[in-house]
Amino acid sequence: MPAADLWIDAPAKVNLALHVVGQRADGHHLLESLVTFADRGDRIGLSPAAEDGFSVSGRFAAAVPLEGSNLVLRARDALRAALTQDGKPAPPVALHLVKDLPVASGIGGGSADAAATLKGLARLWQAELAPERMSALALALGADVPMCLASRPLIARGIGETITPVETMPVMPMLLVNPLKPVSTPEIFRRLSEKTNPPLILPADLAGLDGWFSALAPLRNDLEPPARLLEPEIAAVDLALRANAPKLARMSGSGATCFALFADHTARDRAAERIANAHPDWFVLPCLTVSSREPIDAAA
Ligand code: ATP
Repeated sequence: MPAADLWIDAPAKVNLALHVVGQRADGHHLLESLVTFADRGDRIGLSPAAEDGFSVSGRFAAAVPLEGSNLVLRARDALRAALTQDGKPAPPVALHLVKDLPVASGIGGGSADAAATLKGLARLWQAELAPERMSALALALGADVPMCLASRPLIARGIGETITPVETMPVMPMLLVNPLKPVSTPEIFRRLSEKTNPPLILPADLAGLDGWFSALAPLRNDLEPPARLLEPEIAAVDLALRANAPKLARMSGSGATCFALFADHTARDRAAERIANAHPDWFVLPCLTVSSREPIDAAA
């Protein structure tokens, strides 16, 4: 991994619940999603340079494009275009992506990379863009990029652009497991038969781990049934997680990553070890959800 002047975390996004509640006239699905972030993910390194550069390392480096379609480069170009329009400088920058999250896995790796690049470059270029303008730039890069800019517990509505922070979510021990079978998000939405499902309702006075586990239990991921049909190994991941008595197990996003929440670190670590031993070819990531009080921003 090269040295960099500034490192920004690009944490994995987890849809604790994802309800599909309608469809816009333009075909986009309307969602209500309770989202949190892991304390683990990709990382973006940024350094001023004589000319623009981009390099990638990490476990899944080979799975992402090195050229213009990479969301890191699209984010750089979008912010530079906005600054140029304002007559402000956006000098050359060397960007490095540590790609440790699997690609097309329902945990928003590409969106997290785009959001972290926007955050890091805004700092490096001292771009004082209004939050609404940053959000609009983010949304143009992808529906999940605005929530990744926030990187804290939230409810996302609309196609993902309407974000309400969730203030009382505790830190929860979490295990992410992916069978390393990529799943195409558009394909899952195409296979979704019911587009108007019951809304996401959270009790107003949620408190403590047990309160949250009870409130999460009746919620759903409406993308899970079509994803299970497309990728049968999701059922195996779910079974492996449930065999370890988690408080909750569910698929994130359009899959195939499933998450499980545990009451404590010991139960989570035991589950992680068992599953990694039984399935050495799966991606197994023990982590914590981020706290509502201390959002992830940047790591020095
Ligand atoms: P979501 O949860 O938002 O559906 P995902 O985890 O399913 O996200 P991503 O990993 O974000 O999907 O990316 C999916 C597509 O985006 C892939 O086809 C990939 O080639 C492309 N892509 C471009 N840049 C990146 C990047 N930096 N990281 C990951 N994927 C990228």
